Amino acid sequence: MSRIVYVNGEYLAEEEARISVFDRGFLMADGVYEVTSVLEGKLIDFAAHMVRLRRSLAELDMASPADDAELEAIHRALMARNGVDEGMIYMQVTRGAADRDFAYPENATPSLVMFTQAKPLRDTKAARDGIKVVTVEDIRWGRRDIKTVQLLAPSMCKMAARAEGADDAWMVEDGMVTEGTSNNAYIVTADGALVTRDLSHRILHGITRAAVLRFAAEAQIRVEERAFSVEEALGAREAFATAASSFVCPVVEIDGVVLGDGTPGPMARRLREIYIEESLKAAR
Ligand code: PLP
Repeated sequence: MSRIVYVNGEYLAEEEARISVFDRGFLMADGVYEVTSVLEGKLIDFAAHMVRLRRSLAELDMASPADDAELEAIHRALMARNGVDEGMIYMQVTRGAADRDFAYPENATPSLVMFTQAKPLRDTKAARDGIKVVTVEDIRWGRRDIKTVQLLAPSMCKMAARAEGADDAWMVEDGMVTEGTSNNAYIVTADGALVTRDLSHRILHGITRAAVLRFAAEAQIRVEERAFSVEEALGAREAFATAASSFVCPVVEIDGVVLGDGTPGPMARRLREIYIEESLKAAR
């Protein structure tokens, strides 16, 4: 049976789904997206993803194709139709189809596409063993706080990491780590402080990041939201990354330097457990 996807008001087999060649998402990456994880058939952090979607749309002066209740209903319909109880739901809004022009069209109708990706999120090799990252130059644009579909730069960074035998890249600007290619980056200092980049236009304001920092503060962990250098990361006691699709993912090696004993650190393991437990409690 083929996957059922949603395109502009219709639920279709994925082979039947169509979008215009004039869609500005296709021609100009003029679109934004959200990825919400599904665990035990529940949507994790859904309300926060909606808030960020609204912000991305507003920053680009893009119309919304539906209100939050309608978007939630489509998420739930796709979960049910595809029998997904663990995995992700991808949602993309583009400015819609219009004759190609750099200026935004006046009256384009936004396009809305959604699909499910069933896959294990809780029990993964990355969570068990941790991942290796290498640092690469951050070659992305200047508004990384807007979650746009122009993902070729981080895709290139990820491929550069793969070419070096690593799992992911941590991107670096002016000697300071910004974030991972599709996640926020954290280190734990020798004296036990949890450090992650402060919010600005330079990084995506991760939904998982916000929740994990809240849980860390509740667990009396000292949190420092500031830039950290590659050098500081190489001397860290432990490191990890967060994203909706990987929750809290331990990092055990940076640029070939093994952190601690080379296994997931205690803070990463603890925050992963707390995140999954608390997010599930709050989810519907
Ligand atoms: N940073 C970047 C560049 C991302 O692409 C993502 C997720 O796709 C994140 C951080 C993590 O954000 P979230 O926790 O909302 O998934």
